[in-house]
Amino acid sequence: MPSSFPGFRVLVPDPLPAGGLARLTKTFDALKLWEEADRAAALRAAAPDIRGLASTGAQRIDSVFLDLFPKLEIVANLGVGYDHIDVAAARARGVVVTNTPGVLVDEVADATMGLLLCAVRQLPQADSFVRRGDWTRGPFPLSASLKGRVLGVLGLGDIGRAIARRAEAFGLKIAYHNRSRRDDVSYAYAASPVELAQACDILVVAAPGGPQTRHIVGARVLEALGPRGILVNIARGSLVDTAALIAALQQGKIQTAALDVFATEPDVPAELRAMPQVILAPHIGSASVATREAMADLVVENLTSWASGAGAVTPVA
Ligand code: NAP
Repeated sequence: MPSSFPGFRVLVPDPLPAGGLARLTKTFDALKLWEEADRAAALRAAAPDIRGLASTGAQRIDSVFLDLFPKLEIVANLGVGYDHIDVAAARARGVVVTNTPGVLVDEVADATMGLLLCAVRQLPQADSFVRRGDWTRGPFPLSASLKGRVLGVLGLGDIGRAIARRAEAFGLKIAYHNRSRRDDVSYAYAASPVELAQACDILVVAAPGGPQTRHIVGARVLEALGPRGILVNIARGSLVDTAALIAALQQGKIQTAALDVFATEPDVPAELRAMPQVILAPHIGSASVATREAMADLVVENLTSWASGAGAVTPVA
């Protein structure tokens, strides 16, 4: 296969969106691992020559994995979250890590508003109600409302801000918690997650995953959110203490939740699946054709820019 960068071999463990994959395989000598009959053997044979890795998030990239590739220079991740990559271990080996900020922000914020509206107005449940033929037996129960409510954003970064902007258009007041107060917004700042939960009715989690934020939403935060409170998690499953969330929902300590991400995804606890008021989505925040292709473009752009000696386009901080 001809390559624009002879000798720069790229490992692609899992499929990328079609357009991005086509560009990548046209530009690089790429090993599409999922197509190999004996993946372990193909990986062993190619590992000494691999210089770039196109990651989709399915593979945990820790020091043991990184050590398989003595010539690795760049891990280009499809996605903005990179909690599955040990960035310190990569840096220690001189490997640069890139992600795909910017191109997915609006898509994730749109999906968040959809999940939020579904949780408040119980729209999927209303759809099922009609399909079951229950409407002929009486009206659908009245739902909660967005009116007069406060949206709390835990993690007011790129995506959190895009969510806040949309929520403002829906007439919601905004509060937020970050480790540091932003000076470019006029939203109410809460000094801690508990304080934020006390100040809002709908808590949207949009901070990065990883050890620092593990279980940042636990029993105390959920209690502070209160019996009319709604939790929306579009960040990572690790930020929410799942056992505490299940208990809070079962005991009516919060009203409902809308969850796009799970600690054990794609496995979702049976307790959550059994609760009719809870909205569940299979990690689809950025999952539109256009946005996934834009993310794949940025993966290829990072690899191309790096291989050509111009450096990474969007290295992680
Ligand atoms: P970002 O721009 O880096 O924003 C992250 C925000 O979180 C920052 O405002 C940061 O502020 C805050 N934060 C970081 N650590 C915190 C902590 N310990 N406590 C409180 N706040 C903290 O990231 P983004 O692009 O908005 O993305 C956010 C996350 O969304 C990603 O990391 C990813 O995991 C997730 N995501 C999910 C989907 C999906 O499909 N569901 C899609 C894309 C992204 P400070 O630094 O001041 O604390």
